[in-house]
Amino acid sequence: MFDKILIANRGEIALRVIRACREMGIASVAVHSTADSDAMHVRMADESVCIGPNSSAQSYLSVPAIVAACEITGAQAIHPGYGFLSENAAFVQVLEDHGITFIGPKAEHIRIMGDKITAKETAKKLGIPVVPGSEGGVPDLETAETVAGEMGYPVIIKATAGGGGRGMKVAKSEEDLEVAFRTSRSEAKAAFGNAEVYIEKYLQRPRHIEIQVFGDGKGRGVHLGERDCSLQRRHQKVFEEAPGPAITPEERARIGDICAKAIGELGYAGAGTIEFLYEDGEFYFIEMNTRLQVEHPVTEAIFGVDLVRQQIRVAAGEEMEFEQDKLSIRGHAIEVRINAEKLPNFAPCPGKITHYHAPGGLGVRMDSALYDGYTIPPYYDSLIGKLIVHGRDRHEALQRLKRALGELIVDGVDTTVPLFNALLEEPDIQKGDYSIHWLEKWLERNL
Ligand code: ADP
Repeated sequence: MFDKILIANRGEIALRVIRACREMGIASVAVHSTADSDAMHVRMADESVCIGPNSSAQSYLSVPAIVAACEITGAQAIHPGYGFLSENAAFVQVLEDHGITFIGPKAEHIRIMGDKITAKETAKKLGIPVVPGSEGGVPDLETAETVAGEMGYPVIIKATAGGGGRGMKVAKSEEDLEVAFRTSRSEAKAAFGNAEVYIEKYLQRPRHIEIQVFGDGKGRGVHLGERDCSLQRRHQKVFEEAPGPAITPEERARIGDICAKAIGELGYAGAGTIEFLYEDGEFYFIEMNTRLQVEHPVTEAIFGVDLVRQQIRVAAGEEMEFEQDKLSIRGHAIEVRINAEKLPNFAPCPGKITHYHAPGGLGVRMDSALYDGYTIPPYYDSLIGKLIVHGRDRHEALQRLKRALGELIVDGVDTTVPLFNALLEEPDIQKGDYSIHWLEKWLERNL
């Protein structure tokens, strides 16, 4: 096992990893930008290294600075968290060259899944059902018209290099196609430096269902059920739950087994998420994320496992402590993402926290790097905390969420807490009856 791990991240996820390290008797190294010298992850880690100025490009994304921090501190492995360098195959390659272990999959698997066309082709070969769409990239408008015409409208145009919902455009009919195709390409070029796009059938009322998978890197794969992350704003998740309210045990077993087998066959190592759209009892692959997800705690809650601990074990060459027949679901869990944002426009709202009080009690977990007097810097994303509740069933989880939101105090900045208080009053949310479009429509009517 490693003696020392460096965490190449900040905020709540850095704390999450430091906590796992501490329980495993592993020393932790925090890295930080100058803006983050007072951040909680710096205070909580055993050691810390300043790796650059405020901008992420010069700090949390700086490969030379992070490698140097490993060498100075003698850290043997890096946990990337999510975002930043977590899905950067070139970074993983550099670490290999320096003899530093990356806590995550092989560079090859990150590369395959990072290109959405290759990812889809690979998924198809592994027997995973995919969304109907173009065979690979669509080079010009003429081809786009042919493909969309054959498939039938509406269609969605997506960036091959996409992520974070950028570069996606829907064309309801042939008239919309030209504008959608051109804007998607220019957005993709601007955001990812790669203008290539592809076309998919646009599903009308699907749910976003993702399967948590885990591989030992030696041919064994397991699944830990699904999360329903349909409640999204601008393709960004805000509320996640497990198990999915619309998924039956039979459906879970069927799609879960397909995913677990695929992961084994790939020789995939560590945690991964296979994302699907789900409509009328069918699953359609959209992408795979080769890292720990923001919403992993809902899976941890219902299975009673520590995913970060298993990631570290597998990276160190030890056996994963998961066996499919021993993994069983207990109760229901919900996570809400608390952002420092001002409603109704969700404008980022950085600033000083004058008072912070975290909720507690049975079945409540608050993952946050906030503390009294902390100043949220304006340079990074606006996630300031994740509130996760676990109950014996969905009803109890909802009651507990309401109770815990009532206990939470974040003074000094605006947050998305009022949104969740309002959502909990909605009959559709109480019943679990929502698709990926539900929240956008609700926001139009209510904010
Ligand atoms: P990104 O990597 O940019 O997040 P994804 O492929 O994961 O992109 O898609 C993000 C979200 O966009 C999905 O959760 C869903 O809400 C919507 N979406 C993607 N593909 C389709 C599709 N074919 N039909 C309908 N909605 C889609």
